[in-house]
Parts: sequence; structure tokens; C-alpha cells
Amino acid sequence: MLYFAAVLTATAVLMAAVELRSSSSKMPVVAEVKLTKSTQASTSQIKIHTIDQILPEQDNPSDSLVRLLATPPPPPTPDCAVAACVALTFDDGPNADSTPIILDALKKERVKATFFVIGLKVVANSELMHRMQKEGNEIGNHTWAHPNLLKISRAQIEQQISQTQATITSLGLPAPKLFRPPYEAFTKPMLAYIHMPVILWNIDPKDWKEKDPKHVADAVVSQARSGGLIVMHDKPTTAAAVEKIIQDLKPRFKLVTVSELLNLAPDAQGIFIGR
Ligand code: ZN
Repeated sequence: MLYFAAVLTATAVLMAAVELRSSSSKMPVVAEVKLTKSTQASTSQIKIHTIDQILPEQDNPSDSLVRLLATPPPPPTPDCAVAACVALTFDDGPNADSTPIILDALKKERVKATFFVIGLKVVANSELMHRMQKEGNEIGNHTWAHPNLLKISRAQIEQQISQTQATITSLGLPAPKLFRPPYEAFTKPMLAYIHMPVILWNIDPKDWKEKDPKHVADAVVSQARSGGLIVMHDKPTTAAAVEKIIQDLKPRFKLVTVSELLNLAPDAQGIFIGR
């Protein structure tokens, strides 16, 4: 009788497994059912696994293993050459009154962004710098004091960048690998001595002139598109819009760092505006 019950149960599980596979081929689920004569069929154990092949049912159903295979889950970092990605970037921080709000929204929604920081603000906000890094965000160099690079000398430009790099690394953080010039003021000859990818943008919601967070969110969400590199500013009005922006974009896009969006090689150089 027990044997008969076990056969019936194993058959039912096999049918259910085949049904599961045919109805949802992407589901990464494997059902493994083990039956033994010494216990009631109702005590059979079910485990969920991922495996990469289907094993045939064994001859003796009382000891049968029924396994169903599925596709392994995708890698955690999306390939933005294929997936629809956008990168949110925040310039001119870190700031005590806005950076924590932006970081809270990113953390709550489990997404990452890129912060282009001003060197002279870094030491006074070192805890925020550590938090940016610890929570998986990317940090870029936005000069030491936010000058217009077209109005200063090569030596001064190099100083603006190197002083910021040194200050960030002095906190025990990695040296930034991205550079963003203030005011989009940049010329190609500068590439000869700025040994980092220069990151501009292809979406500008002009958040700097907005006083209502709703307007910031509307501007960002309405302009967002796959491959978008969105420039925003680390300031209170924008910070108050970030959670809504993320919630609206998340169903449509993967929110990634700039390096992920561009799939930048470690030695990449040039001017980048997005995809
Ligand atoms: Zn700026």
C-alpha cells in the first residue's frame, strides 16, 4: 500500500514538474522530491535547487528523484549594451543637507548612482564620502574648487584634479577614475593631460534652476531613455525628488553607475556623454 502511494505521489510530482517547466521556462527552480518506503508519503521532503540538467526518473519510483531544470539567474551587473540602463549622476557635493537624502533614497530602492564631488568639500564630509563608497556608488572628480577650466592654465587644471584625487585617497578611499569638468567647459586638447575619461551627459533636466522637487522628477522621468547619462546636482530640491525619480524609472530601466553604463575599460580615455 505504501509502495502504491509512493508511485502515485512520484507520478503526480513528475507531472507537476513538467507542467512547471513548460509554463515558465525562465523560472530558476528545480524541484527535488525524495520518497522512502519507511515513511508515509506525506512526509516526503521537497527541496528547491538550481541545476543545469534534467535527470531521468530512476527505475524504482520508491527511491526516485524527480528534478526539473531551469535557466540560471542572470548576473547581478546588467550588460548595458543589451539591457536598458540609465545612470543618475549628482554634481557639486558632498553636502550635509542633501547628500544623506540622496544616499537614503538610493539605499532604500537598492540602486546605485555616481557622485562627482568637489575636492574642497570632501574632508568636512568624509563620512558621507565613505558612505557613498560603502553603499556601492561611484565617485568621480569634479575639480577642487569648481573653476571654469577654459579660464585657467594647464598647471592650474592639473592641480585642481590632483589635489582632489589626493584628498579622496587620503581618506582611504580609492582614487576616482572619472572626471567631470564644471560648466561642461572642456576642450579636446585637455585630454592630453587629463588621464581619465571625461564624463559629460546626454540628458540635462536643468534641476539647478528648479525650486519644486516635483518639477525635477517630471523633467528627469520624461526625458529618460535607454543609454541615458543624466546630470543632476547634489542639492536639497533635487535630493527631495530622487526617491520618486528612482521609483518611476525602475520598472523601465536598470539604474547603474557611469562605469557600468559605459562599460568602461580601466584605461579608458576620451569624452563620454552616454550611450
Ligand atoms: Zn558642477
